[in-house]
Amino acid sequence: MPTSSATSATSAREILTGLHEVMASRLGAQAKLNKVVKIIADAMASEVCSIYLLRDGVLELFATVGLNQSAVHVTKLALGEGLVGTIAKDVAVLNLAEATSHPEFAYRPETGEELFHSFAGVPIVRRERAIGVLGVQHADPRAYDTLEIEALQTVAMVLSELIANAGLADKAAATAGAAREQGSVRLQGLRLVTGMARGLAVYHQPRILIEHTVADDTEAERARVYSAFRKMREQIDNMTTLAEFGTAGEHHEVLETYKMFAYDEGWSRRINEAIDSGLTAEAAIERVRQRMQQRMREIDDPLLRDRMHDLDDLSNRLLRIVSGRLGTAAQMGLHEDTILVARNLGPAELLEYDRRRLKGVILQEGSLTAHVTIVARAMGVPMLGRVGDVRQAISEGDEVLLDGGDAVAFVRPTQAVEDAFKAKLVVTQKRRAQLAALRDLPPVTKDGCRVTVMVNAGLRDDVEALDVTGADGIGLFRTEFQFLVSAALPRRESQQRLYKAVLDAAGDKPVTFRTVDVGGDKALSYMDTSDGEIEENPAMGWRALRLALDRDGLMKAQARALLEAAAGRELEVMFPMVSEPWEFDAARDIVEQQRLFLVERKKLLPTKIRYGAMLEVPALAETLDMLLPKIDFLSIGTNDLTQFLFAADRANPKLAERYDWLSPAILRFLRRVVRQAQEAGVRVGICGEMGGRTLEAMALIGIGLERFSITPVAVGSIKAMIRSLDRSAVVPAVEKMLAEPVASIRPALTRWAEENEVALG
Ligand code: PEP
Ligand code: MG
Repeated sequence: MPTSSATSATSAREILTGLHEVMASRLGAQAKLNKVVKIIADAMASEVCSIYLLRDGVLELFATVGLNQSAVHVTKLALGEGLVGTIAKDVAVLNLAEATSHPEFAYRPETGEELFHSFAGVPIVRRERAIGVLGVQHADPRAYDTLEIEALQTVAMVLSELIANAGLADKAAATAGAAREQGSVRLQGLRLVTGMARGLAVYHQPRILIEHTVADDTEAERARVYSAFRKMREQIDNMTTLAEFGTAGEHHEVLETYKMFAYDEGWSRRINEAIDSGLTAEAAIERVRQRMQQRMREIDDPLLRDRMHDLDDLSNRLLRIVSGRLGTAAQMGLHEDTILVARNLGPAELLEYDRRRLKGVILQEGSLTAHVTIVARAMGVPMLGRVGDVRQAISEGDEVLLDGGDAVAFVRPTQAVEDAFKAKLVVTQKRRAQLAALRDLPPVTKDGCRVTVMVNAGLRDDVEALDVTGADGIGLFRTEFQFLVSAALPRRESQQRLYKAVLDAAGDKPVTFRTVDVGGDKALSYMDTSDGEIEENPAMGWRALRLALDRDGLMKAQARALLEAAAGRELEVMFPMVSEPWEFDAARDIVEQQRLFLVERKKLLPTKIRYGAMLEVPALAETLDMLLPKIDFLSIGTNDLTQFLFAADRANPKLAERYDWLSPAILRFLRRVVRQAQEAGVRVGICGEMGGRTLEAMALIGIGLERFSITPVAVGSIKAMIRSLDRSAVVPAVEKMLAEPVASIRPALTRWAEENEVALG
């Protein structure tokens, strides 16, 4: 038997050469398998070689040398039954010197296998599920060495292709039906966007299904892998550069690890060795990936396991490059109902998906105020984050029930779970109907304070939310969303068309347009928003108004588009990330210049222009007395503000749950700003995600805020909260709580709300 790496490669190659001929022959599938077991047994000098295939959910002996031929198609084992069933169920290798001493050993007299002592079996895998088992047996009690097992695994990969092409095994093994046999899984994560959804799992970066495993020309395959490695390294280097400016998806640390693996000689060497054994480039990459996956299952160290996941992601990337299938699932067409699964996503990547088919999103990472979450919320797509090991738990095509509110997903649900989910869905829909019924009722507190509740929007379709929710207007229109969904910089005319359509649809209700806020985690693929520089801290970098003032061409065009779109009606413009009052002046000047330009040309102008600033940078609070006389309104962006106040990156998953919006630090800070603005007679509101949560919104009313711009799905529950609240009672209650030395007033405030029967939803 082979004992060195070279001999193992030779042995696998010898088998593969034989298989190549068999697969190319005109024989029927059964005849092919009969030949295959013979080739393997000869090459491995084993007395027995057998193939079991999963048919109708049961493993059936399909071909053998060494066992009784009369047992073929007669011996059947359930998943989990006997050694073969155990291998298929666990998708794991068994290597036993004495088969009968294994607790799962099930003796089948018709096979005559009592003559054999040692046994080695490997799963035949398709789409990460076992569709069969390949086993060898020897009369002598002997353990098989790693190289022999690896040769068997390589052969099993090739068999998987033959079996799938011939349609011999259960197709369903790759989809929900047989996946159910793998057991239902409950995944707990972090609630990012509430709502319930069901659908089939689709990976954002789809797994490549390997179609050809045996190479015709080893040298050609080597060249393909070589060139794929080069491309992949280029891509990773590029991503690393872009990530410095907070590009879509991947996080810093992950990219660093990607980089380490992409240049890892050991990895490319192992792939080369697999090619030596006769595999195609795709099969070799997959073979090495499977081997790593197996090792991953054995590792108990979560850190190491994370790194193995990175390598797994990278293998998939390499596979996609080598097979020329580079698109994401968005470009490949989705199921009717899709639950998208990804490690992480950028806002632009999410926006590429068909909103009618995308029902939910599950992220391995993710955080509450990352822009991808805001976009998902705006799209009304439930989203679960921080799920951990998604690849282990979910396979492409698995049925998934997602409950965003409870922050859980059920993969391959049992009937009982499905029933409970349906029952909850009915209750949720009823509650949603109740909230929708509030559409025409004003958000007035029990003691008669009329609160303004507006919605945040960014896409043309979002305007419908005004009608659906009965909100008072659009308090934040994120104009950069148009830039994020476009393949090229939107021309002035197309910006103007969008703004006009939004104003038309809003009718009498006011709309506040925020000028483009790019940079941070909102990078544009077609524009270098980092000016060629690599930024250490992109969220605190050259973004939003800073970038817009330095490169004012973009803002000039936008100002013209806004002024022309609002001709004959009122226009509200606000600027993001104002840090010092002069920045507001400079931004206002740009719009004013464009207004004068239109005046000179006797164009129709807006009847009134209101200028506002967003308070997102804490420093601005210190010069508020200077800013307030200049502005018509102030809008507090708590997403950015809180990240700067706590020095906690809003997109960093590790910090996603660390600080509470209901901490005295944040609420006291906001109280100061709100009071100062109100005393100066300047309209003040909030437009961060915080305002869309009932308890948080109640606290904000408690510190004197009366104006909210929130995500549309939250309007109903916020209205219900307001209508059940006594403002004159919550103000002193929050005052008192903010005097307490606690990290968060959440527990006390929740108790207070319960005692005072405030509807928190
Ligand atoms: C904010 O920062 O709170 C805000 C509303 O702006 P954005 O989330 O778009 O950065
Ligand atoms: Mg912001």
